[in-house]
Amino acid sequence: MLNLKSFIDYVESQNPHEPEFLQAVTEVVEDLIPYINEHHPEYADLKILERLVEPERVVSFRVAWLDDNNKVQVNKGYRVQMNSAIGPYKGGLRFSPTVNLSILKFLAFEQVFKNALTSLPIGGGKGGSNFDPKGKSDNEIMRFCQAFMTELYRHIGSETDVPAGDIGVGGREIGYLFGQYKRIQNNFTGVLTGKGVHWGGSYIRPEATGYGLLYFVQNIFENNCDSLEGKVITISGAGNVAFYAAEKALLFGAKVVTLSNSTGTIYDQDGFSREKLTHIAKLGRNLADYVEKYPAATFHPRQKPWQFACDIALPCATQNELDEDDATTLVQNGCICVAEGANMPSTAEAIKVFHDAKIAFAPGKAANAGGVAVSGLEMSQNSIGQQWSTSKVDDRLKNIMNNIYKTCLRYGKESDGYINYLKGANLGGFIKVAEAMKAQGVL
Ligand code: NDP
Repeated sequence: MLNLKSFIDYVESQNPHEPEFLQAVTEVVEDLIPYINEHHPEYADLKILERLVEPERVVSFRVAWLDDNNKVQVNKGYRVQMNSAIGPYKGGLRFSPTVNLSILKFLAFEQVFKNALTSLPIGGGKGGSNFDPKGKSDNEIMRFCQAFMTELYRHIGSETDVPAGDIGVGGREIGYLFGQYKRIQNNFTGVLTGKGVHWGGSYIRPEATGYGLLYFVQNIFENNCDSLEGKVITISGAGNVAFYAAEKALLFGAKVVTLSNSTGTIYDQDGFSREKLTHIAKLGRNLADYVEKYPAATFHPRQKPWQFACDIALPCATQNELDEDDATTLVQNGCICVAEGANMPSTAEAIKVFHDAKIAFAPGKAANAGGVAVSGLEMSQNSIGQQWSTSKVDDRLKNIMNNIYKTCLRYGKESDGYINYLKGANLGGFIKVAEAMKAQGVL
């Protein structure tokens, strides 16, 4: 019999000073351990959980590069290859000064469950660097990406490990990374996803995470015989995920009233239109300037969006951006659904508030899986040398998100009828990986 406290103590002792990783593991094993004890005691004998929390491989390397003043700069580079039971490692690269091994291990761990939920044959990984792309010239970004790939290339491959983008890594960076891989290997292969549509990328990849998030939320409301029409939505972040989530929400007839970044939050009580979103995209990180063109809106420096009343909250910026107080405020203001576009944006205490209030809470590993799903579709297109149309990829994305929703429903429905999507996602993803690990023997 597995014991929750002993297991968490064990993970902490093996991974000291890694709070984010411990948080992600705790969030999962709280659901898994009672399930294993009741239904699959053989997983305990096979030490499936102990193996799941230990990365198959962690690569850590030096990235030395020249800045525009010809000064040598040195950063840390990592790739965490967490689990390959159901396919090649797959997960993004993050370039941010906040990157450390604890954060990458939590992201890689989450990725294992998320990728399993998509039903595509992809394992879990994550990587990145403590490099800060903000304020760097285009040439500096290129030299950094080339230096990063000069080490990473030997650890990845289209059948081994296929990285993608994440915070600080968008289409531009994927281009530079791919170019360097191709130069070193003399091989044009689907080793990265998120490529440009004219050189191996998939349509809908940039939009996929935000769109997929809204498809998941649509399922939640339809399951309650409701729709998104007229719902007020607050969104945090103003990057890739936030932006396309806002765009799709408008198409569903919802009213999006906030976007934010680390400088603060725009609150537009009239809601964003397409024209307003285009204007925000042009502002770059200077969100405060929005009110110059739209004076009815307000800008709140260094504040998060959770103080504003909404029906639905979509945290789409970063981990632990929504805490217990924010969650309490959301619930008190009438919020009935929180769906995570970012990875682990809600703290454990915040999730407890949502569950206690019995509002719908969709965890990132299910709700933001659209991005990696379309990355998986990009891999399929690369391997058969085809490019599918926008509508075909979008249809498949919708289908995958609908199936993830059904999996969460199947494993997450509680005796009082409340749907615990977190539990559903944890169990649904786990069972697939555990069965594959069992079948492949002890390794
Ligand atoms: P981007 O880099 O495109 O955008 C991130 C946004 O979040 C920026 O507006 C950034 O603002 C803001 N942000 C970051 N940190 C903070 C902070 N501490 N406080 C306030 N705002 C902050 O990243 P993505 O949109 O790609 O990713 C966002 C989240 O979604 C991440 O958790 C990522 O792991 C997750 N995700 C992304 C996927 C994808 O396909 N891109 C797939 C699945 C999950 P600023 O510029 O001021 O830092």
